Amino acid sequence: MNASDLSRLILSYSLKLREDYLKSRKPPERMPHKSWVEPDRVLGKEGHALVIILPTVGCHWALTSGGCSMCGYVYDGSQSTPSSSLLLDHFKLAYEKLAAIPPPISVKIFTSGSFFDEKEVPKQVRDEILHFLSRETKVEEVIVESRPEFIREDIISDAINALKEKRLTVAIGLESTSDRVRSIINKGFSLNDFKASLEILRRLEAGVKVYLLVKPPLLREAEAIFDVKRSIKHLSEMNVDAISLNPCTVHKGTFVELLWKKGCYRPPWLWSLVKIILDVQGEVDATLTCTPTASGLPRGPHNCGLCDRKIDAALKKFSVTQDAKQLEHLNCKCKLEWKLHCQEELVSH
Ligand code: SF4
Ligand SMILES: [Zn+2]
Repeated sequence: MNASDLSRLILSYSLKLREDYLKSRKPPERMPHKSWVEPDRVLGKEGHALVIILPTVGCHWALTSGGCSMCGYVYDGSQSTPSSSLLLDHFKLAYEKLAAIPPPISVKIFTSGSFFDEKEVPKQVRDEILHFLSRETKVEEVIVESRPEFIREDIISDAINALKEKRLTVAIGLESTSDRVRSIINKGFSLNDFKASLEILRRLEAGVKVYLLVKPPLLREAEAIFDVKRSIKHLSEMNVDAISLNPCTVHKGTFVELLWKKGCYRPPWLWSLVKIILDVQGEVDATLTCTPTASGLPRGPHNCGLCDRKIDAALKKFSVTQDAKQLEHLNCKCKLEWKLHCQEELVSH
């Protein structure tokens, strides 16, 4: 089966799954408030991030084209478009959590889609949030996520002007620099599309953060490690500011879950994340982070069950300090099992 037949097959599965699961979405007024504060790297320093998930209608790509094969975030979105005042209320309530947090602080405004898609975040809401943040002395950086098709020169320029001295960083879920790997993910944009966005962001002096997916479906463990290392190298050459390694988790209602239930997908080993970081550190100028979710659970990145917490904590510590020493001497009896697993997968296929 060639790559385009494969991506058509994945797309048809994804569309069918979306249809059923989208029915479970809540109306806007019943959407829970989601926000938290966590230690993070803020413009090269140790600090904190306020993460806010705005309850928008969700990712345009997932709603119209099946979305990415591992992503179920669209089911957490609102059933219909929320009012501007509801979005602003969610933002303001979340912002109160910063009251006792010292600087430096970054504010991450996520929508499980694209901040610059005006169907998700109307321009008036976007402007109001950015103007508000421009006046907050503790805040140094504002990070938003967007697919490349919404990154337009006029929109980014307006956002930068609204934020005044604060740094705007735009995070893009590129997942891999390989177009072939991205077609398995059903990502719906090419490396050239990403490069065009990068060009706009660079020219306007916005920060660029890139998400890489560790172990997309249909890749073996060793192939996934290779793909991420190669992608980090490419992105480093493109001078992005930050690279976040996102180990794949098994979301409900996705193609990845379908494979996982059939025993055809295992989320990445935590050892693979440690290996990637140790292999590339020293060769990358960008800030490298890896803060896994659902570590140690069957649906998340995991090792043997005994060492998962320790490895997860070390990865998170590395992400804040950028000091890879804490990853160097980690050990567990399952490390050998992981190495054999990587080798056997390659031999048996
Ligand atoms: S990964 Fe991003 S682009 Fe893909 S479906 Fe999820 S929110 Fe949309
Ligand atoms: Zn172990």
